Amino acid sequence: MPRINEHYLSLKATYLFAEIKRRTEAFQAAHPDARVISLGIGDVTQPLPPAVVEALQAAAAEMARPETFRGYGPYVGHEFLRAAIAAHDFGARGVAVGADEIFVSDGGKSDSANLQEIFAPECVVALMDPVYPVYADSNVIAGRSGPADASGRYPGFLYLPCTAENGFQPALPDRRVDLVYLCYPNNPTGAVMTRPALRRWVHWARANEAVILYDAAYEAYIRDPEIPRSIYEVEGAREVAIECRSFSKSAGFTGMRLAYTVVPREARGRTAAGEPVSLNQLWLRRVSTKSNGPPYVIQRAAAAVYTPEGQKQVRALIDYYMENARLIRDGLAGAGLTVHGARNAPYIWVRTPGGLSSWDFFDRLLAAAHVVGAPGAGFGPSGEGYFRLTAFGSREQTEEAVERIRSRLGR
Ligand code: PLP
Repeated sequence: MPRINEHYLSLKATYLFAEIKRRTEAFQAAHPDARVISLGIGDVTQPLPPAVVEALQAAAAEMARPETFRGYGPYVGHEFLRAAIAAHDFGARGVAVGADEIFVSDGGKSDSANLQEIFAPECVVALMDPVYPVYADSNVIAGRSGPADASGRYPGFLYLPCTAENGFQPALPDRRVDLVYLCYPNNPTGAVMTRPALRRWVHWARANEAVILYDAAYEAYIRDPEIPRSIYEVEGAREVAIECRSFSKSAGFTGMRLAYTVVPREARGRTAAGEPVSLNQLWLRRVSTKSNGPPYVIQRAAAAVYTPEGQKQVRALIDYYMENARLIRDGLAGAGLTVHGARNAPYIWVRTPGGLSSWDFFDRLLAAAHVVGAPGAGFGPSGEGYFRLTAFGSREQTEEAVERIRSRLGR
């Protein structure tokens, strides 16, 4: 028998959403008449924008004719999409990002999990706590963590607690760190980072020769014009930051799969001997070795997001979810709960009332209101005492969930 990668055995046994599913199914089996509403898993519910569907159909028709059929595409994504991303997501905002710095992929999940591969196993990783679990898990598998301790913390990581007390903003690391994962707008807290705070992080990374892996998967939800949408809006970030974006939550692509990562030409790592190496070239090598790029039809569909109709339709989709976020935020605050997030993000981060643990509040909400959310502890140790609801439900479900919480749990 071949020996396995034992680091997999250090992953926590119960994956958050599997446990949510297990408890929900057990409740539903015991209460078959209960109409359970899920605001737990961060998946979208509204259909694709019409411009996207039209482009998808047109691309499918191209694949049906010998003269327009396409086989393998470029590893890094088609030029038409990379150019559109560079022009619209960056150029239009006064940020210079070249098409050769954009790597199109099948998801922000795979990109944020895979980026650590181009760094040495000895690199020390810092993580916001709580945060999207993929950053921790991918580094566990790579052997950077060691087994979790009794509190669920991995000794190899530096945790940067983000709680109401510090405004959900991580403090700068107090020891040597090579890689820092920052996620803004944040999943799960719904917090955003101000320009001065982001500037402090970029200065810190430059001074400490660290790299920031900046996950901007929810950038489209930023309403406040003062909040940076890209880390490259901060001067000096190109040398020290890699940014991931996704079409999943902006254009409803969770089932379509399309995302991209920006690795600037100036970003550098080093060899053991201290020789600088271009991270852009290293990531290009990694992508071209392990991928043939996302499907042509999906890339055509994604490019339709940048047409005038596509832009209008995507804005309407985001407005729809942000109105849900407002309804949840106002409704829960009106019911006497303490709520955070939801102003520049599709997540509502609720303080559990009466000092309940986040899993106890999960059970209580399910039993009393038949509403499913996500316990904060599942996103990291500092998520204990909090609870996440998402704005991705339909309007009807969202309104009903809020009304049930207000009438059955409100004070
Ligand atoms: N990054 C964050 C912070 C997320 O919350 C998610 C999905 O929930 C992703 C990335 C993954 O997005 P994708 O659907 O592109 O894999």
